[in-house]
Amino acid sequence: MSILIENVEKHFGTYQALDNINLEVKDGSLIALLGPSGSGKSTLLRVIAGLESADSGRIYIDGEHATNLDVRRRNIGFVFQHYALFKHLTIRQNIAFGLEIRKSPKNETKARVEELLDLVQLQGLGDRYPSQLSGGQRQRVALARALAVKPQVLLLDEPFGALDAKVRKELRSWLRRLHDEFHVTSVFVTHDQEEAMEVADDIVIMNQGRIEQIGSPAAVYDNPSSSFVMSFIGPVNVLSRNTKLFKDGHANGGDLFIRPHDIEVLTNENGTAIPATVDRVIHLGWEVQVELLLEDRQLLTAHFGREKFDALNLQPGQSVFVKPKFTKVFGDSLAEPVAEPVAEPVA
Ligand code: ADP
Ligand code: MG
Repeated sequence: MSILIENVEKHFGTYQALDNINLEVKDGSLIALLGPSGSGKSTLLRVIAGLESADSGRIYIDGEHATNLDVRRRNIGFVFQHYALFKHLTIRQNIAFGLEIRKSPKNETKARVEELLDLVQLQGLGDRYPSQLSGGQRQRVALARALAVKPQVLLLDEPFGALDAKVRKELRSWLRRLHDEFHVTSVFVTHDQEEAMEVADDIVIMNQGRIEQIGSPAAVYDNPSSSFVMSFIGPVNVLSRNTKLFKDGHANGGDLFIRPHDIEVLTNENGTAIPATVDRVIHLGWEVQVELLLEDRQLLTAHFGREKFDALNLQPGQSVFVKPKFTKVFGDSLAEPVAEPVAEPVA
């Protein structure tokens, strides 16, 4: 079932939580709402679910006008960050809950529960209680419970947010495979760009209640439409506009945005590269992060694959020459240039 959102606005008092949201979620697709905390992701999800009403605008589910439709009549499955499982019910009873409320015939409920236990790979654990499962297992039960009533739409609000990194990674690839099999139209909320990129067909980047950009993971990474998107999707260096990065002059316009993997380091002067000093070398496993100090004291973070790094064999204190392979300047550059690179190590 497709979801169409037209001109949706939402205020909490005088605070505008959603600002003219327009979005189409195609039938059978999985999209991620990605943005920092407070950007309006959960509010948008709750408006889609009917848990929150929009001040203005319209929502269509499967072409049907649903703006004022009661939450119980939208046929939507929900999974939240904190497993809202019933402690006093077994896993089987938790999964069966929605079906029993709907008075589905006993034998059908029983068969559906077994099918779902299979689907979320928890066969054999059906008679346990939630406290007897790990966090990751509990979130799989929450998903099975949401899917039990065969929802038209599945909404997931930071479903793996409370789990540790390794389990999160496992669950996100598992969720993606599950989606490829069943194609339930899904909206997945996260503030983790790597998670959004791994799971979603399309990413909707939100900032201060507005949609900044919509596109495939590759498109938003390669062609960010604003400084916000470029800084949010993947690590980036933001250098002030008067940084000398080319021997023959300064950058014009706004700040310079450079991905750490778009920096070339040369050990010999080649005529176009500018001098820098290796400040720190950080081994991140398959990747090595090198922090370079430019002559104007700004730091530049570069990432190299192991082979490339080993060939360069850089040492702290060494004098080198740097050359950006690709830079971007935005009309809407950050008002206050960030003096230090904001690159984050890739775990
Ligand atoms: P996100 O999920 O992206 O972190 P939310 O949609 O939860 O953001 O919140 C967006 C903004 O709206 C935040 O500033 C939040 O404080 C505010 N907000 C959310 N729900 C309410 C509410 N029920 N009452 C007042 N303010 C709210
Ligand atoms: Mg939220």
